[in-house]
Amino acid sequence: MAYISLYRKWRPSTFEEVIGQKYVTQTLANSLRTGNYSHAYLFAGPRGTGKTSTARILAKALNCVEGPTPTPCNRCTACRSISEGTSVDVIEIDAASNRGIDDIRDLRERIIFSPAAARMKVYILDEAHMLTLQAFNALLKMLEEPPSHVVFVLATTEPHKMPPTILSRCQRFDFRSVPVTLLVEHLARIAADEGVTAGESALRLIARRARGSARDALVIFEQVISYGDGSVDEGAVAGFLGLIEDETLIELGESLAAGNAAGAIRTVERAYEEGRDLAQFAREMQEHFRKVFLLQFSELNPEDLEVDEGTFEGLRKQAKSFTSTRVVHFIQSLRETAKEMQNTSSPRLLLEEVLAVMACSELDTSPQALAVRIESLEAELERLIRRGSDAGAGAIKEKEAFDEEETQDFEIEEAAGPPPAVSAGAPIDLATVRKSWPKVKDRVKEKKITTHAFLLEGKPREVGEGEIVISFPPGRSFHRGELEKEDHKRILEQALEEVLGIELKVRSVLEEEPSQPVDEAGGGEPKERERSRPNPVSAAEPAVEPEVKKTPAHHDSGKVKMVKDIFGAEMIEEIKLKE
Ligand SMILES: [Zn+2]
Repeated sequence: MAYISLYRKWRPSTFEEVIGQKYVTQTLANSLRTGNYSHAYLFAGPRGTGKTSTARILAKALNCVEGPTPTPCNRCTACRSISEGTSVDVIEIDAASNRGIDDIRDLRERIIFSPAAARMKVYILDEAHMLTLQAFNALLKMLEEPPSHVVFVLATTEPHKMPPTILSRCQRFDFRSVPVTLLVEHLARIAADEGVTAGESALRLIARRARGSARDALVIFEQVISYGDGSVDEGAVAGFLGLIEDETLIELGESLAAGNAAGAIRTVERAYEEGRDLAQFAREMQEHFRKVFLLQFSELNPEDLEVDEGTFEGLRKQAKSFTSTRVVHFIQSLRETAKEMQNTSSPRLLLEEVLAVMACSELDTSPQALAVRIESLEAELERLIRRGSDAGAGAIKEKEAFDEEETQDFEIEEAAGPPPAVSAGAPIDLATVRKSWPKVKDRVKEKKITTHAFLLEGKPREVGEGEIVISFPPGRSFHRGELEKEDHKRILEQALEEVLGIELKVRSVLEEEPSQPVDEAGGGEPKERERSRPNPVSAAEPAVEPEVKKTPAHHDSGKVKMVKDIFGAEMIEEIKLKE
C-alpha cells in the first residue's frame, strides 16, 4: 500500500470535513446559502488548522456548477480544477515570496478582467502579513472597491501584523488549534480507511506532538507508518519522535563544535516554528551535553545512554571535539538559561543569544569561558611540543607571545589606571593612511582574526596629532565598542605602527557622533568597560569554579544588541576561520 502524502489525500473537500473549525465553516456555509457572502475575508490562526483548505472550499462553493452553494459537488469541471490546483480563476499567492509593490500592482492589473471559465475569481493570499507597507496600500485600494467578480481571502498566522485599514475591510474568521481529542478521532478514521492498525495511545502521542495542527498530525502519522513498517503502536511513535529529537540535538552540537552560531540559531528557529516549549528544549540540550560529558569519562554503549547507534556515534564524535571543561560550561549555561527563560518575555532571543556565545567562545567573557580558552591554548601548546617539528617550534613561539600578551592585558586592567601615554609621532595625513589601510587590515588579520572582524566595519576618518579616528556606521556600535577594548585597540595600534612607521593612538566613533578631543574621550563609557572586563583572578585559574556568582550575560541589553549585530555581520564566518 502506498502511504505517500496522506495530507494531500485527506485534505478536506467540503466545509463539513474541515475539523475543529465548526464556527467558521457553519457561518461561511450560511452566508453562501443566503447569497450574502463578502468580497474580502481574513482567515487568521495557527499553521495547519485549515485556512487555505477552507479558502479552496469557499472558491469551489462559489464556482461549482450547482453554486453558489454551501455544498460544492466536487465533481464538476470547476470543482475538480480547483481541487487539483489547475483553475486559472482561483489564484493562490504566497505573500512571503511575492511581497513587494510590483507583485500587488501586477495583481491589480489582472483583477479587472472577468474570470476565464469560472463564475468568480478568487485570490488566496497566504501569509498575507508578510506584504510590504507599499503592497498593503496597493491592496487596500483593491479591497475598497473590489470588482463584483472578485473575492479575496487573506490567510495569516499573525493577524496582529496586518494594518488596521486592511483588517477593517475584511470579514474576519479566527481558526483555532485543533483539540487533541478531535485529532485522535481524525487519525483513527484515516487509519481505519488506510488499513493501518493503530492504538489510541499511539495516536494520542502523535496528536499531542502536532500541537493543534491537523496537517502536522498527518505528516507525523505518515512518517511513523513508514518508520514502524506499517504498525503504529505507542513504542513506535515514541521511538520515532525521540529520533527526531536526537537528530536535532546532534546537529546542534555539531554546529557548536564548528563555531557555527548561525547554524545553532537556525535549529532554535525551527524548534520555535514547530511551536515547541523552548525552555524544555534548553533542558534537552543540557541532557545531551550530559551524555557527551559521560562519554568523555566512561566506556559506555548505546543502551546505557538509551540512544540508537547513529546517535551514539554522533555523541562520541562530540565527546572528542569538545574539552570536558567546555562541556561543563555548556551544561551550566543551559541550566541557568532554562531557568531564566521562564521569566522573560522573549525566551527565544535569550536562547539564541546564549547559543551564539556558546558557538563563538571568543565572545564569551565569563570566567568559565576564559578557563576553557586557556585550557585549549594549553592543549595546543602541549600538542605542538610533543610534535616538536620545526613548524611546530615556530608556532609555539607565537603562542607564547600570545599568552604573554593576554597576561599583560590583565595586569594593566588590574592596575585600573589609565593606559600608558603614547608619544605623538611625526604628522601624517589621512590620504596616506587610507592608501595603506588594506595593508593595516592584513597585518591586523595576521595578529588576531577577531580584531580584524570588528575592524572590517570601520574606516579611518581623521588623523590628528598622534591620534587616528576610526568611524563605524550607525548600526555597528557593537563592533565599535569591541575595538575600543584595550586588547583589540593595542593590536590595531601595533599594526599601524608597523605599516606606517608612526605611533598613533586609536579612537573609535560611531558615524553620528562628533569626534571629540582625546582627553574627553578617555573617560567615555566607563561602565561598559567595567562590565565587559574579564575578572583577572578567576581568569588565571583554569579550573571551573562551580559557585561563580555572576550576573547572567543575558541581563545585559548590550549583549542582546551584540547578537543582533552579529546576525548582520560576517563576523561569525571570521571567527569560524580561526577554529
Ligand atoms: Zn461542483
